[in-house]
Amino acid sequence: MLFEKAPAKINLTLDVLHKRDDGYHEVEMVMTTIDLFDRLSFEKLENDQIQIESENRFVPDNEQNLAYQAANIFKQQFSIKQGIRIEIDKQIPVAAGLAGGSSDAAATIRGLNRLFDTGLTNQEMEQLAERIGSDVPFCIQGGTQLARGRGEILRPVASLPPCYVVIAKPTVGVSTKEIYKRVNLEKMMHPDTSAMTHALEDQDFGKVCAELNNVLEPITVEMHSTIAQIKERMQKAGAPGVLMSGSGPTVYALVQQEAKADRIYNSLKGFCQDVYTVHALR
Ligand code: ATP
Repeated sequence: MLFEKAPAKINLTLDVLHKRDDGYHEVEMVMTTIDLFDRLSFEKLENDQIQIESENRFVPDNEQNLAYQAANIFKQQFSIKQGIRIEIDKQIPVAAGLAGGSSDAAATIRGLNRLFDTGLTNQEMEQLAERIGSDVPFCIQGGTQLARGRGEILRPVASLPPCYVVIAKPTVGVSTKEIYKRVNLEKMMHPDTSAMTHALEDQDFGKVCAELNNVLEPITVEMHSTIAQIKERMQKAGAPGVLMSGSGPTVYALVQQEAKADRIYNSLKGFCQDVYTVHALR
């Protein structure tokens, strides 16, 4: 039996540049992993099945699961006849904009690379990951990275300055596909991605907070006003930087003082079902 941690990510920026001929959106985003993890275990089976186990009823136990898809691609790549049992201890809220499924898929590739001693480099694992989904390549190495293309062109950038990340996920359901359908490129306030990467290089926390921007946020907010209410509560409680992650609905606040992080957490507890205080992973 072998274990892997699968961290969640947040978007510090998310920009949509244009729609490509292949139907995908060309994106540019700065993402960072946080210390909120799923825990996965991997075991070889004598039969040739891929078995997914999770106590969380929202986690599919079949080929819909991104960890299943990762295991399937891995088995094919190396003509592995044995089966694989994957147990997912789900801590990351599902369908939240925190890339939980993508991170499970990336952890599966890393885990199976160790279990079967296949010696893939990070870059080779990222290439396999690309076939599963746009956020999966980022999740292979995590940390803080600038992602371009569909999300598969990656460049490490400086980490977030030390801070607390207070996360709140309302119970509304958001379909990523639906949000992208409503993207109107002319009407968007695009992030200044290079200003964000420079703010990170300078470890300028105030500037990082000022440059937080996600073009999908206004679209999701229009559909779910509770996101605006969460943002307002966080700001009223003193958060200097607040943003929705991915296509939502999770909102996070960045804050450097513990007392303020507690105040923000308390202002959300009771209003939202899932509230956490975590750190960025350096
Ligand atoms: P992203 O930020 O990459 O858009 P997300 O955080 O919004 O992802 P996920 O938690 O990955 O969303 O879940 C989206 C859907 O994917 C779920 O509704 C679920 O049915 C399916 N899914 C597939 N594999 C997994 C997995 N391992 N864990 C959770 N959900 C999964």
